[in-house]
Amino acid sequence: MYNPSSRKAEEFIDHEEIVETLAYAQQNKSNLELIDRILAKARERKGLSHREAAVLLDCDIPEKNEEIYELARQIKQDFYGNRIVMFAPLYLSNYCVNGCLYCPYHMKNKSIARKKLTQEEIAAEVIALQDMGHKRLAIEAGEDPVNNPIEYILESIKTIYSIHHKNGDIRRVNVNIAATTVENYRKLKEAGIGTYILFQETYHKESYEKLHPTGPKHDYAYHTEAMDRAMEGGIDDVGLGVLFGLELYRYEFAGLLMHAEHLEAVHGVGPHTISVPRLRRADDIDPDDFDNGIDDEIFAKIVACIRISVPYTGMIISTRESKQCREKVLGLGVSQISGGSRTSVGGYAEPEPEEENSEQFDVSDKRTLDEIVHWLMEMDYIPSFCTACYREGRTGDRFMVLCKSRQIQNCCHPNALMTLQEYLSDYASPDTQRLGEEMIRKELESIPKEQVRNTVIEKLEKIKMGERDFYF
Ligand code: SAM
Repeated sequence: MYNPSSRKAEEFIDHEEIVETLAYAQQNKSNLELIDRILAKARERKGLSHREAAVLLDCDIPEKNEEIYELARQIKQDFYGNRIVMFAPLYLSNYCVNGCLYCPYHMKNKSIARKKLTQEEIAAEVIALQDMGHKRLAIEAGEDPVNNPIEYILESIKTIYSIHHKNGDIRRVNVNIAATTVENYRKLKEAGIGTYILFQETYHKESYEKLHPTGPKHDYAYHTEAMDRAMEGGIDDVGLGVLFGLELYRYEFAGLLMHAEHLEAVHGVGPHTISVPRLRRADDIDPDDFDNGIDDEIFAKIVACIRISVPYTGMIISTRESKQCREKVLGLGVSQISGGSRTSVGGYAEPEPEEENSEQFDVSDKRTLDEIVHWLMEMDYIPSFCTACYREGRTGDRFMVLCKSRQIQNCCHPNALMTLQEYLSDYASPDTQRLGEEMIRKELESIPKEQVRNTVIEKLEKIKMGERDFYF
């Protein structure tokens, strides 16, 4: 039954295969010889199968776990260097016809304020986001064919790209909307989106159906096969994720890797990103009502195991996580984080009045973007506002080939420095500016090719003189 090349959800996410994988992992969690063999394979940096990865996730030998963490750190460094890409979510509408039990946007929730931004309000939000320094957004919306039809999403994307406030620019719009048709994915592609992101929530079909009792999202196969339709519609950067806390994390982890294997097998391109959201408190949602919450330690192990199993994938962590937790997983494989986020519909331009709560979940990391940029640099990470790859057509298999051969670093590192300089010149506080200038000076030395280094120095000077948007 299990077939990674099948187009049927229940065949590429085969329940029996996951159950057998978990049993195999349990049997071998102390099998030193096997674990060493898997680690040796992981060191080749070509990834692991879901079975091998599941053994590492369960591994209970402390020294081997240390090796897993160390390898995750090295692989992160090899593929992504010390750059961390910055983004912010923009909630367009929380109207929703689904009945997701974990999400406060569910249709029956009468206590949440329902809002849908007009194009004028979107423009105001985008100006506020640009004034913070953001260049990359992830737009979010509930599923509602009447209130949030595809035409509304497309118009909103157009509005976002059209706003140029002072030196501001949104250069990449990623989209997190409900599973849709090939035709609609094609329209999103034509609108110039970056990544299409859709969280599976849970790969466990039975739980999935219980957690989504009503609405179009109830259809497990339609949801699980969405990435295939997206790719058929021409979107070649897709982002996977599960909502940890709904089902057993070991089950989700295996499902996630099988989904990545499926995309590689069928489309020749794995997931551009993997997100690792954890369930949070929200309007009428109490995470304690769900039995499968995971602690920070298991969370960190999941991040490390994803990093060594799918080395080329970007890994995203949102402000659902605290500063402390983010600090831990940044080193283990996370390559993209959000900052200064609001999860309400509107709220960037003007804070939302307390009696009008439209938030999707409580944010844990409430720091400003400037504070986050400062904090990253203190830890020696380069905050990157780069959006060059997809604008240069380095998407899908082109990105993967470059990333797998680690060529991507030759342009990513200089691009990170140039976009950081834009941030420093336009938006940073004096303290952040000072720290950033120091970082850029130091990082220039690690550009190996003299010619590239000289070009970057020249462009940095031009940025300081007011020119913008240079990239390799
Ligand atoms: N409605 C779209 C869909 O069905 O995929 C868009 C996604 S929604 C705006 C973004 C994501 O937030 C969801 O996929 C879900 O994983 C996550 N989410 C929902 N409720 C949450 C909660 N209480 N805590 C943390 N994340 C939550």
